[in-house]
Amino acid sequence: MGVHKKLEAVKEQLAGVRVVLVRPKYGENVGGAARVAHNMGISRLVVVAHGMPEQAAMEKMATHHAKDLITNLTLAPTLAEAVADCSWVVGTTARQGRRRFFLENPAQMVEHLLPKLAKNQVALVFGPENQGLSNAELELCNATVTIPTADFSSLNLAQAVGVLCYELFSTMMARKESPAAAPSQASSRVLTAMYDDLEKSLRAIGYLQESDLGYWRHNISHFFNRIGLRAREVKLVKGICQQVQWLAEGRPVKGGGRK
Ligand code: SAH
Repeated sequence: MGVHKKLEAVKEQLAGVRVVLVRPKYGENVGGAARVAHNMGISRLVVVAHGMPEQAAMEKMATHHAKDLITNLTLAPTLAEAVADCSWVVGTTARQGRRRFFLENPAQMVEHLLPKLAKNQVALVFGPENQGLSNAELELCNATVTIPTADFSSLNLAQAVGVLCYELFSTMMARKESPAAAPSQASSRVLTAMYDDLEKSLRAIGYLQESDLGYWRHNISHFFNRIGLRAREVKLVKGICQQVQWLAEGRPVKGGGRK
């Protein structure tokens, strides 16, 4: 395949990928992120904030090349809403805290992400300059990636966007074949509803106490998110929850295992 054809094919595969910036402080970083995302074939930018970042600062760094990304930038009030329709969400973190298990490096992140591209909406999520992503935000992620640095310090936000988008784009450009497509998976919105349902059921039978909730939610979301459940697998879990809730309420149980 000629380079132009390859480029078109890669851009088409990247159409389902969005870069999400959570509560960025500086319009310059949004503009810089837009520019490098555009350089690397990504055409969608979402900002989690209550108001538009400063327009002039964004445009200055985006330059006319990435103007479309800025013009078409969408705002979401929360990360949950920004990724509700995504079924593969990659979080990024500069920190390697105790509770952030399953950290991938950029090459591993791309290896896991590539098969998802054909049938899933994908998000690359970046945190605010001063704090990074919160634990609750990382609970929405299917994978978490750290860019190794020589002194374990963090990168500038737009530069972190650049490194990961480059890793994705350059790997795709170098491959002869597209990877085998993974099936379509349950969206973030559907998974969140499943965790709510599981929580309700486990509370109903006294398995979960108020004080365990934060820890439990953290663990259960890591457990299921990293698998990448399909819609019918979520239905199976929800079916079990329904029976548990009926039983806890003393209602007759129908049994649904063989349905
Ligand atoms: N003080 C913050 C740093 C945030 S830097 C902290 O300790 O978390 C802003 C954002 O850039 C991060 O949330 C992350 O999305 C990205 N980033 C910076 N350095 C990174 C690294 N080494 N690996 C992955 N993402 C990084």
